[in-house]
Amino acid sequence: AFDVLVVGGGPAGAAAAIYAARKGIRTGVAAERFGGQVLDTMAIENFISVPYTEGPKLAAALEQHVTEYEADIMNLQRAVKLIPAADQGGEHEVEFESGARLKSKTLILSTGARWREMKVPGEAEYRNKGVAYCPHCDGPLFKGKRVAVIGGGNSGVEAAIDLAGIVGHVTLIEFMDEMRADAVLQKKLRSLPNVEIILGARTTEVNGDGTRVNGLTYEERASGEIKRLELEGIFVQIGLVPNTEWLTDSPIELSPRGEIVIDERGMTSVPGIFAAGDVTTVPYKQIVIAMGEGSKAALGAFDYLIRH
Ligand code: FAD
Repeated sequence: AFDVLVVGGGPAGAAAAIYAARKGIRTGVAAERFGGQVLDTMAIENFISVPYTEGPKLAAALEQHVTEYEADIMNLQRAVKLIPAADQGGEHEVEFESGARLKSKTLILSTGARWREMKVPGEAEYRNKGVAYCPHCDGPLFKGKRVAVIGGGNSGVEAAIDLAGIVGHVTLIEFMDEMRADAVLQKKLRSLPNVEIILGARTTEVNGDGTRVNGLTYEERASGEIKRLELEGIFVQIGLVPNTEWLTDSPIELSPRGEIVIDERGMTSVPGIFAAGDVTTVPYKQIVIAMGEGSKAALGAFDYLIRH
């Protein structure tokens, strides 16, 4: 059995494992895919103190850093069930798809999140080649260019406002006949000179020249007419889904959006079970934030262990 078992091996899980292992306690990390979302990223320019790196390189460095310590890394392990300790100070158990079961006095859940995709032709092909999901990450790569933001919810409208200050022109495309974002955000968006809003439009294809995005095709839903926009970037903002499906039958409190609710030390509603990173209610999903949160949760778990 472990003192700390980390479930998830992205930036949050790697940081948690390093902080826990450095306390000299029995530490394990089980992850479906070590590296997490970073593996799907190309250019990373906001990993503070490293002006430029690439996702696969950072993912390898994360794993390398964890292996410097005596932490058990269990890759390709997908957690399917959590069985909390029967009494405080007891052992929690995690069941994996492989049938394996691991026990630990504390857990750190860092299973991350995934961006909802449009699932239209060209989207996957041009991912990181004009198709982006994170305006904080990739906005500056489109300086002075023409981009579209797909989605008129709060995140889409916030992204469009943010991007309008960096890129040349933003077209916001919303499927419904009105945007769902807060009125104050919509007002701000409409006040910007370099933004166009298209409502009632269904994106049907991401167009490209074989190497990069050069346009977007959509259907005007009312008329059925097919139209095309010339642009260099597309930010898809139709939702970030936390990987908490495996926890819905557990007593861990989730927010209405399915994110794990944590306190200021990273502890969930179940004593001894902590969580960190994109899977939690912590706002702003970023690598440096996930790492800070993972470190914090590990210190929280250590604190819990010395008291129980
Ligand atoms: P994740 O990275 O999502 O890791 C989750 C881990 O949990 C993975 O190991 C996964 O396999 C595992 N897992 C999931 N479910 C289970 C399960 N049931 N059982 C076991 N393991 C499970 N951020 C930046 O700061 N800068 C950028 O430039 C940047 N660019 C990005 C570009 C793209 C295309 C994407 C998708 C994201 C980008 N981000 C960027 C965001 C950043 O990648 C995330 O904020 C960060 O990876 C979150 O870390 P995490 O550890 O919380 O979760």
